Formats: sequence, structure tokens, C-alpha cells
Amino acid sequence: ACLERIEAVEPQINALVTVCADEAVEAAKCVDEKRAKGEALGKLAGIPAIIKDNMCTKGILSTASSKMLYNYKPVYDATVIEKLKAEDYVLIAKANMDEFAMGSSTETSYFGVTKNPWDISRVPGGSSGGSAACVAADEAIFSLGSDTGGSVRQPAAFCGVVGLKPTYGTVSRFGLMAFASSLDQIGPLTKNVEDSAFVLDIIAGNDSKDSTSAIMDYPHYGEGMKRDIKGLKVGIPKEYLEQEIDAEVRQSYLDAVRLFEEMGAIVEETTLPTFDYALSAYYVIASAEVASNLSRFDGIRYGYRTEQYDDLKEMYKNTRSEGFGDETKRRIMLGNYVLSSGYYDAYYLKALKVKTLIKNDFDRLFGQYDILLSPTAPTPAFQVGAKSTPLEMYVNDLFTVPVNIAGVTAISVPSGVTKEGLPVSVQMIAKAFDENTMFRAAWNFE
Ligand code: GLN
Repeated sequence: ACLERIEAVEPQINALVTVCADEAVEAAKCVDEKRAKGEALGKLAGIPAIIKDNMCTKGILSTASSKMLYNYKPVYDATVIEKLKAEDYVLIAKANMDEFAMGSSTETSYFGVTKNPWDISRVPGGSSGGSAACVAADEAIFSLGSDTGGSVRQPAAFCGVVGLKPTYGTVSRFGLMAFASSLDQIGPLTKNVEDSAFVLDIIAGNDSKDSTSAIMDYPHYGEGMKRDIKGLKVGIPKEYLEQEIDAEVRQSYLDAVRLFEEMGAIVEETTLPTFDYALSAYYVIASAEVASNLSRFDGIRYGYRTEQYDDLKEMYKNTRSEGFGDETKRRIMLGNYVLSSGYYDAYYLKALKVKTLIKNDFDRLFGQYDILLSPTAPTPAFQVGAKSTPLEMYVNDLFTVPVNIAGVTAISVPSGVTKEGLPVSVQMIAKAFDENTMFRAAWNFE
């Protein structure tokens, strides 16, 4: 059914880079055989899923939506893929995205923009735009995205699905093509909160192949989710509401706050003074890390290689000039600038200090509150081509970025639909490794 659906909607939506129909049918048959033989089946037996194209899938194209990796077939699976396979899931496609996960609209993809299924003149958000659109358009039951500054939550909000950014260290990054290694986390996009917890429970866990993977007793995600939230302490950082927010997004958010009160939560206004610095710190840190991470794409090890060169240096230069898109080049230049001698202290080191201040600010709030509530994005999905400058695009991440900087967890849950028929969402944020409190709030709200 999902494959038929893909065939029907892909010409309009373009959420996918690769459809692996044959492999999917093969995997589904294996599940059937297991079932026929009476063998134990995994928790995702036969469930079709779509994976963002920056996660390595053995033998299946994994392009990060870049010309640089247009022909790259990994020889290994990312840890998340191994875990899904162990539960008998069925991979049916790889999802379109902003090139190397840089962007908020999926417009920087080498494979063309993905359209929002709610209104195809609009973007699906980004960078996991394909992962959000494909779930909204019923092309799969769930998908995985990656979130460095909001790339799961903002597209989830634009497409009216649930998007989760787990606490940094919860899900292994092994086999995820690194963008900003200190911020990247993989998270599920699902139709409801229960599925989100269910998928997290499968993909979370310590992994010796990722040195930043948390060593702890992992909880059973989703446990206790269906209890009421009477007495839950909810903080409303006023800085979020002081930003320019679309009137209907604001109203939907205020309605959500009221609903929390009605459900017995104790809601209070509070303050996050470092909020204003998060976006600037993010774009310095993320650019610095990506400049370093993308240096491996040199035309030798994998992917694209220029045809025009006389010597090694020219080969590097032409490969990277031809292989990377404009936004990627902009970040590489910005990153190398903030890391260069003379500027390192003024920009990169300063951004790291700001990161610590923001983290401290969140820690202080989580001493008082169980969750914080905000809109996920300042506006609903915008028109394709509407953001003409990089800065206009970057301010889209205003509400999602602080969460990655602080390393905490957040979930985006649909809260309503605008008069024009576009979905809007609220974001619930919880302290590090307290996903279950957040799931409980989200499940009750939903
Ligand atoms: N939109 C942000 C950026 O362009 C966040 C991307 C992400 O989370 N991967 O960097």
C-alpha cells in the first residue's frame, strides 16, 4: 500500500531520493516466511519506514542530497538501521533533505525541493523535509530525520506530524553523516506521540562506535506516558513570546497553554535571558564543525570527482567547487573564518562560552519546571522561494536551536490548523534524559 501511495503522490511531493521497492518487497517476504515458520518476529515486523538520506544504508544510495555523494552506496549500516533491521522493519525509501542537513526548507537539495503535502506551493520545512512530508503524505508509517538545530521539529511542525529531538547522546550517531557533531541527534517523525516513544525505544541505547553515546540505564521510553499531568510544572519563557510570531501560531500556542492549565498543570511565566544569543552561537558553532566535517569530501574517498584537473590540488578544488551547493559553501567559508587564527578566540571560543551560559540557563529552569512550552516555529510553512536571503532562512530556527545548544530534549506536537489550512505545532522541552516526562505531557496534550 505504501509503495502504491509513493507512486501516486511522489510526482507532486518529491519527498524521496531513492525508492527501494525490490529490497522492500524482499524484506517483507522474509517477515512473512518467519511468520509462517512460527519464528519470533521483531517489534516492527513488516512496518514500512523511510530514512533521511544522510544515514548510511548498506548497498543503498545515501546521498545527503548532495551532488558530492550522488553515487555513494555505503558498505555498512548506521547503528540506527541495524537496530531497526533487528526488529524486522521494512526500508522502502530514502528521504530528500537539505544538502548535508543545512537549511530549513529542503530547497538546498541537489535533487530538487520537496513540496508540502498540505499545500504544494509551500516548503515542507527542513532539513528533514522529505522525512516529514513522506509521513504526512502516508508514504510510510514513520521516518527518521536528524536534528542539529531543529531539522526534525520544524519540518514536523510544517507538515503536521510529531517530531522528536532526543537528548544528545541518546541515539547513536554512528553512520549518520556528520554536520555539527556536538549538536546532531537522530529522531523519529511519526503520526502520533505513542509511535514516537515506540521508535525511540528501539533506536536509543549505548553504542561503542559513538564516543558521545550516553552510558546509562536507558529507560523504557513511553513508560508512564498515559498518566495524567496534574501538578506538572510548565514554564513559559517569555523571550519566546517576545519574538515576531505569526498571529495564528501565537493564538494556537496560547490555546495550548490554556489546555495545559485545564489538564491540571501548573503553568508559570519565566525567563531565559540567554535566549537572544542562541541563534548567533549556533551558526558559529555549526559552521565551524561542518567546515571540518566536510573536509573529507575530496574527490578521492567517495562520491563525485571532477573531470577537469591537471594536478592533485586542482582536483580537490574543482571537485569541491562543482560538488557542493551554495549554502554548503557558505557554511564552509564561514566555518573556516571563525576557526582561523586571530578569529578563533573572538568567534568560535566565544560561541562555546555562550553555549555554556545557555546550558546553565536551561539547567536553572529545569530546577523549577518539568517542561518548557513554546511554539515550534514562528510561522506556518512558507511559499517555495519566499526566503531570499540566508538570514531570513536562519531566523526560522529561533525556537528550536536553543534546545540543541543546551543538549536537552524536545518534541514538536501539532496544535491546530490555520484558516488557510496549514498545520501549526507547539514544542515541549524537557531536561536531558527526561524524555518520559516530555512524552507524558505530549501524549496528554495530543
Ligand atoms: N536549519 C538549521 C541549519 O540550517 C538546522 C539544520 C539541522 O537541524 N540540521 O543549520
